[in-house]
Amino acid sequence: MNTSTALALSLGLGLSAELFGATPPPPNILFIMSDDHAAQAISAYGSKVNQTPNLDRLASAGMRLDRCFAVNSICSPSRATIITGKYSHLNGVPTFNRFDGSQPTVAKYLQAAGYHTGMVGKWHLGSDPTGFDEWSILPGQGVYFDPAFLERTGRRVIPGYVTDVITDLGIGFLERRPANKPFFLMLHHKAPHRSWEPTEAYRAEFAKRKIPEPATLRDDYATRADALRQCRQKVFEDLTRHDLKLTPPADLKGQALAQWLNVKPTEVEITVDGQKKTLTGEELNRWKYQRYMQDYLACVQSVDDNVGRVLAWLDQHGLTTNTIVIYTSDQGFFLGEHGLYDKRFMYEPSTRMPFLIRWPGVIKPGSVQDALAINPDFAPTFMDVAGLPMPADMQGRSLVPLFKGQRPDGWRTSFYYRYYHDPGDHNTRAHYGVRTQTHKLIYYWKLDQWEMFDLVRDPDEMRNLYSDPAQQELVALLKTELFRLKKELKDDDQYADREPSAGVDGAR
Ligand code: CA
Repeated sequence: MNTSTALALSLGLGLSAELFGATPPPPNILFIMSDDHAAQAISAYGSKVNQTPNLDRLASAGMRLDRCFAVNSICSPSRATIITGKYSHLNGVPTFNRFDGSQPTVAKYLQAAGYHTGMVGKWHLGSDPTGFDEWSILPGQGVYFDPAFLERTGRRVIPGYVTDVITDLGIGFLERRPANKPFFLMLHHKAPHRSWEPTEAYRAEFAKRKIPEPATLRDDYATRADALRQCRQKVFEDLTRHDLKLTPPADLKGQALAQWLNVKPTEVEITVDGQKKTLTGEELNRWKYQRYMQDYLACVQSVDDNVGRVLAWLDQHGLTTNTIVIYTSDQGFFLGEHGLYDKRFMYEPSTRMPFLIRWPGVIKPGSVQDALAINPDFAPTFMDVAGLPMPADMQGRSLVPLFKGQRPDGWRTSFYYRYYHDPGDHNTRAHYGVRTQTHKLIYYWKLDQWEMFDLVRDPDEMRNLYSDPAQQELVALLKTELFRLKKELKDDDQYADREPSAGVDGAR
């Protein structure tokens, strides 16, 4: 960083591109993040359930991270971690808390260093975005059709399908950007978040498909802690009539309608070839999984289309060469693995984030990286890309060396995870744990129960080895590592039994 950049940062001043000095200006950063898009629903990750040709373009022209994880697998906490580079206990968002926008964020640092910064789409942090030259956010979760947006100047409704509209707003930001500055755009899709509402065209197309079931859909939870049995995020038991898009009786209104939609049905009447048929038991279970996945994947397809639309726009405007494009999701998602939907748990389908990055001239096309990456790394990475020093209080590391195909000495061999929202919306038990390259140890502190998995021999995490006499030496080592990380990251249990403020759902 040159002296004038450092001075401007210390004074909080904006800079124009010429102040980046004699070196070429840093690249633009287009950070595209969807909500709840699991890696196992991206064909570049070997999806068995769908095809995502536009996301695959990023993978073939750039790099796929195979071990990138959220350190608290739920929406608002992941977003707060991404912009601060800090774990939940230090950024004040362990659950759905209002984000204190006065704290430092990577957007503020980039803006002060001369980037033109924008935030478009799902924000879900309860306070107005700070550090952005322009922002246009969904209120709370937002809606799929004719969504409202909050902006500095007020609220406006934009007709259309939310994934298309967010893309339009992102392209609008790019079209208006000052030509003499690099840009940093966070383009955040709402899809494919529950309640999985696709466009009519994709709904109809996916309704005809038969989606393969995952091997662990009928997991019996043997050997595992009570948390899996207790949670209410099960495909067969917990999807509501609303989730399943069942048609309510025409005369229901208001509260009665809401109650009807919230029922978790144990029998469903469908019409096949003009004949009415009542589904129950295993037949109903199979049907529920199909309904869930058809709509989820139909939502993903619009995300893929719209990523393609932005990539085409970059091509048409000569911006492809000097723009880093990242595609990720705020966490993973259960697509029926362990019989579940939603996220929260430290199991692989939920904590693993897809992460695809194209960076022409720096990343070797078609490369794959399996070093452990975590979402606190994103902010330090953006700082590094911009040529800025990493602030001492960020807890991640720049991923830039990994992008270059290197594995620096001392790169992490484990990471710390902590989920707080208990009982939350799905009666999911709070837990913390450690994952290494080969193993995972999970502690459900309110249950005082443990799980340990061998991820090499048991990648589906079906056999809890915590009580296996042959594993006790390894369990002890993992415990030592867990508490070493917990201390190093300054997690002193400050949010273990309380949540600092009311939820933000429904607010911004
Ligand atoms: Ca999410």
